[in-house]
Amino acid sequence: MRKGLIAANWKMNGQEESNEALLSEILEALHGLSAHENAQTEILICPPALYLQQVGKKLEGSQLKLGAQNVHPAESGAFTGEISAQMLRDVKCSHVIIGHSERREVFGEDDQFIAEKFSAAQASDLIPVLCVGETQALREAGETSEAVLGQLKAVLNHAGVDAFKNSVIAYEPVWAIGTGLTASPEQAQEVHALIRATISELDTGVGEQIKIIYGGSVKSTNAAELFAQQDIDGALVGGASLVAEEFVSIWSAYCSN
Ligand code: PEP
Repeated sequence: MRKGLIAANWKMNGQEESNEALLSEILEALHGLSAHENAQTEILICPPALYLQQVGKKLEGSQLKLGAQNVHPAESGAFTGEISAQMLRDVKCSHVIIGHSERREVFGEDDQFIAEKFSAAQASDLIPVLCVGETQALREAGETSEAVLGQLKAVLNHAGVDAFKNSVIAYEPVWAIGTGLTASPEQAQEVHALIRATISELDTGVGEQIKIIYGGSVKSTNAAELFAQQDIDGALVGGASLVAEEFVSIWSAYCSN
């Protein structure tokens, strides 16, 4: 059975004081869950890079993992403002989000660059959380599958299916991110199944074991029905991850699924 993953993407939110308070609340609430519930999932917190060390320290000794929101593919050099995979390892990150739609759309990252980031992350033993998803226009044009598979195949072609053994895919329909709109459980399941089938065609074992999580306005009120779907292995949570009670409820919904 695949272990689930509930990942918090704080985006560009938080400050030292509020981070401390949010994490204290989350850690306290998690103590209230049973060992059985806790064993069902991994939890990942992805704060802004500046706070990775603060958050990492706070998570020490807990089961929560630390992830970054971005990485540059080069090992080092003249890339002002960027952070390498090795630097993320240095501050004890285990995961890094790659190809978030905000990076694709706002910062113009293309499939090739994203594929390079994916490989650079893995070369430094980071687990990439690869985000893929269609825009509203593509969904309305009936091109969801082409869009999602195009993004996925760009990385598959670059890194090979073996590289997906130790990675996570996040299906995040762009129209559902931060908008309050959520894909219906059936819409999400359809794309998750397609992603899994595409990977399974290349390697059945990898397809079976890879975690495919859903992101796009996940909240405590819609989490359970999403998690009831066969191919949804957790969630990448933006806005709701900034409210401890919400985030823990989403985790709890996965555990009791
Ligand atoms: C995200 O940023 O990855 C995300 C899914 O955001 P939200 O949950 O706010 O839609």
